[in-house]
Amino acid sequence: ARCWFNGRLVNPAEPQISVYDHGLLYGDGVFEGIRFYHRRAFRLQAHLERLQHSARAIALAMPYATDALAAAVDEVIAASPLDDGYLRLVVTRGAGSLGIDPRSCAQGNAFIVADRIGFTSAAQRQAGLSVIVAAIRRLPTDGLDPRVKSLNYLNHVLARMEATRAGADEALLLNAQGRITEGSGDNVFVVRRGELLTPPGIDGALEGITRGVVLELAASLGLPAREASLAPYELYTADECFLTGTAAELLPVREIDGRALDICPGPVTQAIESAFSALIARECGE
Ligand code: PLP
Repeated sequence: ARCWFNGRLVNPAEPQISVYDHGLLYGDGVFEGIRFYHRRAFRLQAHLERLQHSARAIALAMPYATDALAAAVDEVIAASPLDDGYLRLVVTRGAGSLGIDPRSCAQGNAFIVADRIGFTSAAQRQAGLSVIVAAIRRLPTDGLDPRVKSLNYLNHVLARMEATRAGADEALLLNAQGRITEGSGDNVFVVRRGELLTPPGIDGALEGITRGVVLELAASLGLPAREASLAPYELYTADECFLTGTAAELLPVREIDGRALDICPGPVTQAIESAFSALIARECGE
């Protein structure tokens, strides 16, 4: 058993979620993706805090307290055959009526599943990614705060499909004002004139845990880093560019919309990457 479902370890193939679950019917729920290395979850408290905040922001009563979820994460890792892997922790509004009114959902559902994650191949990681700026926008019309990690990912799914159609590895989404927000499952950084820049949450980026780690590492390495609104121009003319995320970890970008960067991976990207590996080894063991 590698899946925890509402307090029990079960076989992930067992059918468990009702067809009336509003997570399924309306994307009404929140989630986290968490890496574990050497059987230890990386930055678990930060993920659980973001989950609590996401739930509170959409007025979803969490069916389990943070401590119970932390214990459940440990149980799933212990039951997994993997030393290194990825956990998906999902909390839905639960089963209710077919109508959208969440008052019909008495109790949320929570599950955690562990698996391998194949975000990119070793060859892609080595060569650097080719990314496009997608036509689909982040927050085209709605007002859901981008800091909420909700089960509504259709803009991101469609952006990812655009990347595939274009023969690219990943897509970046613009907001309604044409500012860069993030990738389909990752945050974006550029290096310009020796400074590390990443879009602010307010432009439409999830405040990624990995993004936060990179900002911490930059400070400890004495590299100037700050949030800044970015247009595609800032990416096309960047010295370096990379993506960050729990699944992505740190992925160098080699070209954006067919404009090749001069160096990939550049020196700043490499310095951050080795500091990141060292941090994982420190926090999760070698
Ligand atoms: N942006 C989106 C849309 C994501 O789904 C993710 C998830 O991994 C990220 C950014 C990166 O966040 P984190 O570093 O917390 O995984």
